[in-house]
Amino acid sequence: MSRLIVVSNRLPFALDLTSEDLWTVTPAAGGLVSAIEPVLRERGGTWIGWPGVAGEIPRTPLEKATRGAGYAVVPVSLSKAERDEFYYGYSNEVIWPLFHDLQNFCHFEPAFWETYKTVNERYADAIARHCQLGDFIWVHDYHLMYVAQALRARRVHAALTFFLHIPFPPFDIFAKLPQQQRLLRALLEFDLLGFQTRRDLRNFLQCVRRVLSDAEVLPSAGIQRIHYGGREIRASRFPIGIDFESFEKGAVSEEVAQRTRKLRAAFPGCQLMLGADRLDYSKGIPERLRAFRDALERHRELRGRVVLIQNVVPSRVEIPRYHEFKDRIDRLVGDINGRFSTDTWLPVHYRFRSLNRDDLLAHYRACEIALVTPLKDGMNLVAKEYCACSVDKNDGVLILSQFAGAAEQLKPGAVLVNPYDVEQVADTILKVFRMSAAERSARMKRMRRVVRDENVFWWVDSFLKAGSQLTIRSARIASRRQAKITR
Ligand code: UDP
Repeated sequence: MSRLIVVSNRLPFALDLTSEDLWTVTPAAGGLVSAIEPVLRERGGTWIGWPGVAGEIPRTPLEKATRGAGYAVVPVSLSKAERDEFYYGYSNEVIWPLFHDLQNFCHFEPAFWETYKTVNERYADAIARHCQLGDFIWVHDYHLMYVAQALRARRVHAALTFFLHIPFPPFDIFAKLPQQQRLLRALLEFDLLGFQTRRDLRNFLQCVRRVLSDAEVLPSAGIQRIHYGGREIRASRFPIGIDFESFEKGAVSEEVAQRTRKLRAAFPGCQLMLGADRLDYSKGIPERLRAFRDALERHRELRGRVVLIQNVVPSRVEIPRYHEFKDRIDRLVGDINGRFSTDTWLPVHYRFRSLNRDDLLAHYRACEIALVTPLKDGMNLVAKEYCACSVDKNDGVLILSQFAGAAEQLKPGAVLVNPYDVEQVADTILKVFRMSAAERSARMKRMRRVVRDENVFWWVDSFLKAGSQLTIRSARIASRRQAKITR
């Protein structure tokens, strides 16, 4: 079993300077960390990433944060200017909007690409310094798509694997990227490429065919194969899951049960509808609010009987577009509440902050309906977490965007909508409001089965299995190469 080297933009914790010389360490929550950490401990390994602080990395807090982790942690440092151009710039003002089909939101500044490459090279240096023959190197996400090319330039011939957590756009949209060829060539320096859905895999292969005349996509039913530069690259779909059991257990805990009861009691006679998203234009929050407004306008029976609890987690507020976007949400909420509220009923309960885990689970459990309507999303874990926490008679209904990656797995049970079609979403709210308990339960059972079976541990296993053959093969090639040199 080879050692695992995990490389991601951020380390599984963040350092933050709260006041003079006082550092806090915030562990990253979430399934990815909890699924990968046990593998790192078991196989031995290293996590390489940025600790979230621009400039020099403080040694003592870092040592404190990594002590007893059970694996090595290698920090990559970024200056403030690099963070701005690599993270906010190329990653989040070029790739993020473009890969979510929102090309009008892109800021194609040429300097961003140069910094993106420089920072990716720094990650590659860290990998090259710490990897050994036969290691399983797993690079994560859109911030680090250039790392394999930088590693090859450093004569690292180990098998390199990559997973893209966000969508891959169709050719017509990808073609707008000024660095389209360079980026695809860089990606093809990996040996295994993982995508969330069939849609993303198909889009990627279509882009390879259209952009790179010297690459050949071989016809194949299972794992896809691409011939390029005398090598064979594999690509497949690995839909990420959640730690189902920990969500389910959390949802039935006494603390969460109590909060659930309190939440329900606060809205007597109403069905609760939940929106829980990071502040991001890809999440379709204004469209959802407009749909709710339309539903209240046209379907009077919903008035006084449905409440939308919309929780928005602050995110990337350093990017001006995110500010404007928040203002839009604020105005829409004000408009709906101003128009429809009565002395005893407020249609939208809106909060702009992160819920802690128990609160989030209580919201999942208390709300009869979840509105997960991103304009596009790699997967959308909120949709899966909602299903895992629907523990009361399986009575939750999921209204899900057909453009969320999760729709591919959850379509047998979710009520799919086009988030751009405000009237359709409004009518769906009414339909779901009237849905019988039997139908709700049948739908939720189907979804819970998929979310339970295809959980985050299954995801890690499937990816590692697909990559392990490559690691063995590359170790053999490398040792043959070494033997030739010593002979
Ligand atoms: N989340 C949270 N607090 C909140 C709302 C959401 O911790 O108030 C978490 C949620 O549990 C989920 C993640 O944020 O794991 C959001 O993941 P998702 O894939 O839905 O969207 P992303 O933000 O990664 O684009």
